[in-house]
Amino acid sequence: MNPPLGEFALIARYCSRTARSALLGVGDDAALLPVAPGHALAAACDMLVEGRHFFADVAPEALGHKALAVNLSDLAAMGARPRWALLALALPQADAAWLERLMAGFYALAARFGVELVGGDTTRGPRNLCVTVLGEAPAEQALRRDAARQGDDVWVSGALGGAALALRHALGEVRLDAAAAALARARLEWPQPRVELGLALRGLAHAAIDISDGLAADLGHILERSGVGATLEWARIPLEPALAGLDSPLALRCALAGGDDYELCFTAPAAHREAIAALATRLGLPLARIGRIEAAPGLRVLDAAGRALALPARGFDHFAQA
Ligand code: ADP
Ligand code: MG
Repeated sequence: MNPPLGEFALIARYCSRTARSALLGVGDDAALLPVAPGHALAAACDMLVEGRHFFADVAPEALGHKALAVNLSDLAAMGARPRWALLALALPQADAAWLERLMAGFYALAARFGVELVGGDTTRGPRNLCVTVLGEAPAEQALRRDAARQGDDVWVSGALGGAALALRHALGEVRLDAAAAALARARLEWPQPRVELGLALRGLAHAAIDISDGLAADLGHILERSGVGATLEWARIPLEPALAGLDSPLALRCALAGGDDYELCFTAPAAHREAIAALATRLGLPLARIGRIEAAPGLRVLDAAGRALALPARGFDHFAQA
C-alpha cells in the first residue's frame, strides 16, 4: 500500500514539468511570463465539472485532453498562439493512477502546441478541472466576434454535430451502430482545437468564434456583436457522416444546436475565397462556405428549395436548462 499522496507531493509529481518558456513556472506564488513585444496577451478559462461536462467514468486521458482542448479552442478562435496553461484541480481523492493518466492526456496535447503548464491550484472537492490558457496575438490581428461585415462569406471548419450525436447515443436517445458510435464518441471526448487554422486566419478572416454551444448560438454571438445578420444554406453545412443518414430534425438539432464540436466558424470577404480554399488543402482540414453575412439582423437557414427552415431551440445555456 502506497502512503497517501499529499497536495504538494501531488503537484511535484504530476504538475511540475519544467517550463522553459517561463521566467518562473510552477513552485512560486505566481508564474512570471515574458510576452513578445508588440503582442497582446490572450487569456481564456473554461471549467469542466463532473456530471455537467463529463461522465464520472470517462477515461482520464480523454478528460485531461479535453480540459486543455476546449481552452486551446478559445485561443484558436482569437487567432492567438497558445503559450501557457494553468490548471485548477478539485478532486475527491488523490488517486495516483488516475492522475498519472489525466496528466498524460493533458501534457500530450500541450506538447503538440508548445504549451507549458506554469501554475494552478489543487484542492479536495467534487471533481472539477478549470484550465486557464494564455496566448499571444498582435492586438490588431486578433479575430474578434464584433468584426463581421455585410457581404462576408460565413465559413465553418470540419464537420458538425458529432459530439451532440455521441451524447444522445450515450443517453440512449438514439441508436448508432458500433462504428458510428465510436467515431461520434471520439468527437465528444477528443476534440481537436483548430489552433493552426486560427493562426492562419489572421489577415484573412474578419470575425471568428469556436463552436462550443452549437453553430446557431455561436454564430448568433458574432451577428449580435457585429450588428449584422446571416443566411446559411442547410445543404452546405458539413455534417458528421453518421448524422447524414438520420432523420433531418435530429440532424438539424445536432448540427445547429448541439454543443462541444470545437470547430471554428468565421467570416471573411469574398476576395479571400481562394486563399481559404488553399488553406484547407494545406491544413488537410475541410473548410465549408455555408452562407453570407447580411444587413438584416437574425439568422436564417434555407433548405434546397430556398425555404427558411424552422431553427431548433437555441444552443446550450447552463441556467436556461435547469
Ligand atoms: P499558493 O498557496 O501560493 O496559491 P499553492 O500551494 O496552491 O500556492 O501552489 C504551489 C505552486 O504549485 C504554485 O506555483 C501553483 O501555481 C502550483 N500548482 C498548484 N496546483 C497546480 C496544478 N494542479 N497544476 C499546476 N501547478 C499547480
Ligand atoms: Mg494556491
